[in-house]
Amino acid sequence: MPGYGSLMINGRKGVFMAKKIYLSSPHMSDEGYEQAYIEEAFESNWIAPLGANVDGFEQELAAKIGVKHAAALSSGTAAIHMALKAAGVGPGDIVFCQDLTFSASVNPIIYQNATPVFIDSNFETWNMDPEALETAFAKYPNVKAVIVVHLYGLSADLDPIVELCKKHNVTLIEDAAESLGTTYKGKFTGTYGDYGVFSFNGNKIITTSGGGMLVSNNEERIAKVKFWATQARDKARHYQHSEIGYNYRMSNILAGIGRGQLKVLDQRIAKKKYIFEFYKRELGELDGIELMPINEWNEPNYWLSCILLNGQIRPVDIIEALEKGNIESRPIWKPMHLQPVFSKYDYIGEGVSEKIYNNGVCLPSDTKMTPQDIMKVCNLITRVVGN
Ligand SMILES: *Cc1c(COP(=O)(O)O)cnc(C)c1O
Repeated sequence: MPGYGSLMINGRKGVFMAKKIYLSSPHMSDEGYEQAYIEEAFESNWIAPLGANVDGFEQELAAKIGVKHAAALSSGTAAIHMALKAAGVGPGDIVFCQDLTFSASVNPIIYQNATPVFIDSNFETWNMDPEALETAFAKYPNVKAVIVVHLYGLSADLDPIVELCKKHNVTLIEDAAESLGTTYKGKFTGTYGDYGVFSFNGNKIITTSGGGMLVSNNEERIAKVKFWATQARDKARHYQHSEIGYNYRMSNILAGIGRGQLKVLDQRIAKKKYIFEFYKRELGELDGIELMPINEWNEPNYWLSCILLNGQIRPVDIIEALEKGNIESRPIWKPMHLQPVFSKYDYIGEGVSEKIYNNGVCLPSDTKMTPQDIMKVCNLITRVVGN
């Protein structure tokens, strides 16, 4: 059984399990900030949706990243869905979406009965390739929106992407679910596009156990999203509806967790960076291993430390070796154009996303890891690589 071994305890042979090392697990503050906000909600009996924590979480996150308005929602996926609806994406519309991502970037396009076209990444950023995007604009001049993703906390090269969207008068949505706290040229990801999306799912850099946030400088659109997300109730005493609504708001309890977590975001980023630097020091010089690309204009949040192998060693060799030591790791996201459910949609690119997927591994990047834990991971990988 992976992770088990035998050990003599008081002269008897016992079985022990090596402490599990996680990819990225929830990490509440040592100070108990989250608990204090939840207490407050309990004391005022403000358990139900909305309330002071929801307003506070929206304002505090918006202030932190420098954006004017925010809507706290039930998930990052719901936030992408609302961004598309706010952008006016509807049946038959085309939406360009980064090919190398998690399926939640794409599913909401289908909820809106629109058509995704997948855009390849480049090796310099692992994110959307501006040249592939330009090719896509030439092929589909009537596109309605673009979804760019900042994978693993690395930012896309936003300037040319923003410029292309402006030139074609197309809404830009940043799926910053993995990149809260990441900056591009000194400004936070999620604030470059017309809309920015964050996720507080359990394994993200901060978590509310589940939740998301949509941000924008457009006050009217964010107000509209809040309306749709609370069942689209018209301003009338009787229950009247003129539009289809959703039950997408964040609860006041979970928003309390979010407010507490936001206070330790910088601490989490510092630890994630420490983990990445550790891997870089121990693994960076090995033949056959390359660390994920850090560009000089990018200050990542280092959500996950990822490596790229040279083809000699396969990701599965590393993943299985770590698994035997009770250590969690995983492959890079499988590109969307290779997913059975999305295979009928167009893909613009030259197979870069597929190469990153075929050769990439996400290493454990849990902020609770000790230096000994990280060293253990490095030693196991060095053994697999064999140099
Ligand atoms: C986690 C994630 C999402 C979805 O967020 P949820 O809060 O889990 O719905 C969307 N896009 C990317 C890239 C993600 O990593």
